[in-house]
Amino acid sequence: MLLIRNVLIPDGKKTDPSPYDLLIVDGKITQIGSHIKNDRAQTIRAKGLWAIPGIVDVHVHLRQPGYDYKETVEMAVKAAVAGGITTFCAMPNLIPCPDRPETLQHVRSYQKDAPISIIQSCAINCDLTKERSDWESLREMGASFFTNDGYPIDSMSDLSAILSFSRNHGVVIADHPESRGMDERIDQAESVVILRDLFLNEKVRGRLHLQHVSLSRSVEWMDLAKQRHIPFTAETCPHYFIEVEPQNNPGAYEVYPPLRDANNRQAILKAIASGLIDMIASDHAPHTIEDKMTDKPARGFSGVELLFPLCFDYLVRSEKMPLDKLLVLLNRNPSRLLGMEPSCFQEGKRADLFLFDPEEKWMVEPSVMHSNGKNTPFLGKRLTGRIKATIASGKMVFPFEGTL
Ligand SMILES: [Zn+2]
Repeated sequence: MLLIRNVLIPDGKKTDPSPYDLLIVDGKITQIGSHIKNDRAQTIRAKGLWAIPGIVDVHVHLRQPGYDYKETVEMAVKAAVAGGITTFCAMPNLIPCPDRPETLQHVRSYQKDAPISIIQSCAINCDLTKERSDWESLREMGASFFTNDGYPIDSMSDLSAILSFSRNHGVVIADHPESRGMDERIDQAESVVILRDLFLNEKVRGRLHLQHVSLSRSVEWMDLAKQRHIPFTAETCPHYFIEVEPQNNPGAYEVYPPLRDANNRQAILKAIASGLIDMIASDHAPHTIEDKMTDKPARGFSGVELLFPLCFDYLVRSEKMPLDKLLVLLNRNPSRLLGMEPSCFQEGKRADLFLFDPEEKWMVEPSVMHSNGKNTPFLGKRLTGRIKATIASGKMVFPFEGTL
């Protein structure tokens, strides 16, 4: 039982939120009011802090099983809760790959003690690139999200079949729009896959989700698809609309798709603001320092704990969008994609939330990062606004000592 005293609940429009007490019992918000009395509850004094619904991140790479040396599930979850995340969707590039019931069960066994919800996606093709996996038996085990992660679905007949499967069963088909074999720095490597996916889905009408969109050309195709009422959702990541910091290690910038120029960043920002891009995800992909320092650096950044702070600082503090709009991108739309009710501050609702100090200034440094991978192109960035506590299903999961 938790009693959060004097917390400010921003309604997204007003700049001066009002203070409330929140009583949380058995994982739910049971009372919202002022001067709530309860001697048995653990009290959290939250004067000056904001309560914000827990972040839902639809694109996270766990490294266990298979690459435990990069990061264990426990480490990733610690980094996620330090970032206010209460639910995330994990990608299938693991060993073994979750492409059949036994391997899905094995992968899930590493996640069972996590204090937050982890939705494990399954591979559309065995080992991400081979024959079709057994979609029906995976769905019977509760799989609701299918993707080949770093590989686009190469075969048109597989793509058409899995989109029909998604239309019939309501599962999500996420495609990583990047044509392997084409130079990834040229626009077409991403946008031709997006164009193909969208226009195939004009006929099939499945639940198509486009992962980490990064180009203005892709935005153009998505805009056209919207006009033609083609169903799809799309995500981007902070590093495709926020300029990164100068780093000593060139490997720090290596990511799929690559970082883009200012024109592309501007187009992505516009698409977020207009709602053409539905959500922002971290694409958390931690690596060791050694993996990043070689001639062929591993691709990807650690990102879960920076997702909200970066977006808040860049989008809300600089008045590019109000907080309620950011929460549509980080809570409402991703919750809907994953088939969950978005969390909100109402009596009877699930208590997934975090407490945030909108004024605290800090700098992104390896020593303050909880992820085992300390690599992000935002090292050295100064941010205003810091997550102080995270509550998932009614339990305080961050800070790890359990007190503020
Ligand atoms: Zn990914």
